[in-house]
Amino acid sequence: MSKFINEKTAKLTPYVPGEQPQDKKYVKLNTNESPFPPSAFAVKFATEESLRSELYPDPEYNSLVSVAAEKFGLKKENLLFTNGSDEALNYAFAAYCSGRKAVFADITYGFYRVFADLYSSETKIIPLSEDFSVVPEDYFNAGGTVFIANPNAPTGKVLSIKEILSVVGSNPENVVVIDEAYIDFGGESVLPYVNDYENLIVVRTFSKSRSLAGARVGFAAANEKLIADLKTVKYSTNPYNMSRISAAMAVGALIDEDYFTANCKKVIENRAFTTEELKKIGFTVLDSKANFVFAKKDGLSGNAVYEGLKERGVLVRYFDKPRINDYVRITIGSKDDCVALISAAKSVVKESL
Ligand SMILES: *Cc1c(COP(=O)(O)O)cnc(C)c1O
Repeated sequence: MSKFINEKTAKLTPYVPGEQPQDKKYVKLNTNESPFPPSAFAVKFATEESLRSELYPDPEYNSLVSVAAEKFGLKKENLLFTNGSDEALNYAFAAYCSGRKAVFADITYGFYRVFADLYSSETKIIPLSEDFSVVPEDYFNAGGTVFIANPNAPTGKVLSIKEILSVVGSNPENVVVIDEAYIDFGGESVLPYVNDYENLIVVRTFSKSRSLAGARVGFAAANEKLIADLKTVKYSTNPYNMSRISAAMAVGALIDEDYFTANCKKVIENRAFTTEELKKIGFTVLDSKANFVFAKKDGLSGNAVYEGLKERGVLVRYFDKPRINDYVRITIGSKDDCVALISAAKSVVKESL
């Protein structure tokens, strides 16, 4: 840290991303990426678009927004595309939390806490129930901007549309942000309801179900007024917030519906396989609707499972945090990845006996 840094920035505890080894040595099941390559359409459009890279992109990304609006049954005014969904979350914190309270669970996406600190927001932290459920009633009249990941991370547990809308409806004076990063793996989306509520923002990403983690594409969906708020932040920070190439890839990923559907189906099948096999060797596995499972083995710490798997070439995520340090989060990969994970997990368990 230099002597020039200001006091506020010096005090921040930044988000720590999962390891990103660049040498491909591991079966990489630690950051919830797709095991499948981007759609061939995405790759083709990226190549063509790269030839126009001397020009700035359309800051409104009209072509992409049109395709997305049509796909999701929304108006163009309901959408704002961002550099990964982290940027959409950033905009929401900037617009609605700076100087106001942010409300989120004790166990959820770690970035909410980081953004709250960045914008000097007070926080109201709501503990998950004993079985790691988000209890909707706990968020009624929350007294601040609510952030709920649905399905939640790193538990994979989901709330129904009715439960989510009950939270939205009970907070007429505050914005409720629903982070649907994992919704395509079995949850029910509230995207169709954005025009029914004054205060609902849905955040989505192309990083997980659409194989574009490296392209950095996400979006916020909400009524026109809320989108206008978020655009105020965008045009005050980075008007050309996504590259041309990423926007073109996003169009390709959206139009390739068959590929998307087939990949989600494979992940869901592999999740069932992984859950069943882990249970057979004595793991407790939470019921997940995401592209990962949250699991623990009695008698082994989360760190011991993480280290044991890593020694055997399989990388998963471990969080050294109260309540969840017995667990590891395991991304659902290809069938081969899952088979490799189970084989490594069997060896870890055997060695511990
Ligand atoms: C992965 C993830 C994000 C961020 O995704 P990007 O679009 O890659 O920035 C946001 N929220 C949750 C809950 C996530 O797991």
